Amino acid sequence: MAFAITQTCCNDATCVAVCPVNCIHPTPDEPDFGTTDMLYVDPRTCIDCGACADACPVDAIYEAKDLPDPLRVYADLNAEYYADKENVEISPAPNFHVWAPTVFTRVIPSDLPSLDVAVVGTGPAGMYAVEDLLLHTSARVTLIDRLPTAGGLVRYGVAPDHGSTKRIGESFARFHTHPRVRMRLGVEVGRDVTVAELAARYDAVVYAVGASEARRLGIAGEDLPGSLPATTVVSWYNGHPDVPPNAVDLSAERVVVVGTGNVALDIARILTADPDTLDGTSIAPEALACLRSSKVREVVLLGRRGPDDAAYTTPELLGLTRWTDVDLVLDAHDPAVLAAVDTSAGKAALLRGIRREAIDWSESPPDGPKRIVFRFASAPAEILGDAQVSGLWVTRNVGEVAMKADRVIRAVGFRGKPVPGLPFDDASGTVPNSGGRVAGMPGTYVVGWIKRGSSGGIGANRTCAEETIGALIEDAAAGSIGRGTLRRPGSGRSRLAALLGNR
Ligand SMILES: Cc1cc2nc3c(=O)[nH]c(=O)nc-3n(C[C@H](O)[C@H](O)[C@H](O)COP(=O)(O)OP(=O)(O)OC[C@H]3O[C@@H](n4cnc5c(N)ncnc54)[C@H](O)[C@@H]3O)c2cc1C
Ligand code: SF4
Ligand code: SF4
Repeated sequence: MAFAITQTCCNDATCVAVCPVNCIHPTPDEPDFGTTDMLYVDPRTCIDCGACADACPVDAIYEAKDLPDPLRVYADLNAEYYADKENVEISPAPNFHVWAPTVFTRVIPSDLPSLDVAVVGTGPAGMYAVEDLLLHTSARVTLIDRLPTAGGLVRYGVAPDHGSTKRIGESFARFHTHPRVRMRLGVEVGRDVTVAELAARYDAVVYAVGASEARRLGIAGEDLPGSLPATTVVSWYNGHPDVPPNAVDLSAERVVVVGTGNVALDIARILTADPDTLDGTSIAPEALACLRSSKVREVVLLGRRGPDDAAYTTPELLGLTRWTDVDLVLDAHDPAVLAAVDTSAGKAALLRGIRREAIDWSESPPDGPKRIVFRFASAPAEILGDAQVSGLWVTRNVGEVAMKADRVIRAVGFRGKPVPGLPFDDASGTVPNSGGRVAGMPGTYVVGWIKRGSSGGIGANRTCAEETIGALIEDAAAGSIGRGTLRRPGSGRSRLAALLGNR
């Protein structure tokens, strides 16, 4: 019958390592890895052992016969990944399987010095780096975060209705109490301690500080009241301490979300959800109360390009179309968009069953149940309004249109924030590095979104951390860090404690 991977897969490849017959692909050493929306089980070779389902940190794997109705499509999606791989040689039975080289190979030198390492950031990238250090070296680790709660975007970004994805935080949290780890929460590098002070106290410092700033649209009206970055909205519903509980006002009828990525889908889903379905999740209580009195009747997802090029992943769109009761509508303004939906073999085909409507954008949304409208091939040119957002001027393939709108949410990506003392490339919003080594700063490393930019789900940070910690281990083995060059009496953590205590 075979097992199947489903929507919440975050590509961390934990299942690959436990599958006895190598039937989960792409593996981290295959070229497709990191380019597919998720991993897939090959039903032709799966032996139904269930090891992958036990190992998956986000409960994404089901035996095909147990798939809940909205997830049934994943049995076919898993099989389809292998449809054009007919000629790939498949071993006839597990006993005859020829094992490929071990995934996650690493040669650890036997004379590696015991290191004192600081990891700054407790999101996925920081935690995969910590895991790698603890499992492969005898390093002592000080784990630092500016917030009083660990977790990074798993805690404050992932949507509250994605409970099983948030569960990956539990597998990260098991390292918080590891005997070689000391946590320093509520300590911001650049404010409470400087980059130079950390460098002087540790053999190596790994920065995993993420990309917490919303990209700007660069159009007039962007800073009007009622125009919000996605960061504010997701932080608001996740109870982030930087964002006040009243940061989002839902006395609006139409909300336009600029962008079609997974974050845009998250926001559209939460703003149109039946609040009762969010009760009991990790949603901030004030946000839930606000959703209960919300006036929002319509959320528009505005995509610059066509439906085949939408940034959301297939599993996230399927999640929206199959799980939610909310009314979905495709704006029928552009014949080319409709043709793409009708004929595409790609992502656009997922919108084929959705109701089409020629919308009069000078009007308020209709009365009735809440709805999400997809509008493609439309670029925002100006956010309109005097003291408050009242609309959005949009250019499109077939002319221009002014859309009446009460709120605009900009969900067009994220960029890193400079940390004083670390180099920063303003164009990419990242710290310049080579395989994780920060240029011109021996002993300083980066990992995660601050290293690669804001793309890739949680699991992508695992291979990213392997590269960075691999570089750190190489440097330690070569003697360029940790052999006394930066050592002082006492451990890094006690020297940091003394410094912070003095402040
Ligand atoms: C809204 C949103 C929803 C997402 N949902 C999903 C999902 O459902 N599934 C999925 O697979 N992926 C999801 N992702 C992607 C995933 O969250 C990222 O791949 C991942 O969080 C990046 O990890 P990171 O460790 O680089 O950054 P982060 O998770 O942002 O962690 C950075 C950490 O560094 C800390 N920090 C920052 N600056 C400092 C400083 N100066 N001093 C000390 N500490 C500092 C921060 O407080 C934070 O804890 C989502 C992303 C976003 C933005
Ligand atoms: S989340 Fe990880 S373990 Fe679970 S299915 Fe995806 S790659 Fe496999
Ligand atoms: S059930 Fe067993 S054989 Fe099938 S994919 Fe999972 S680990 Fe591999």
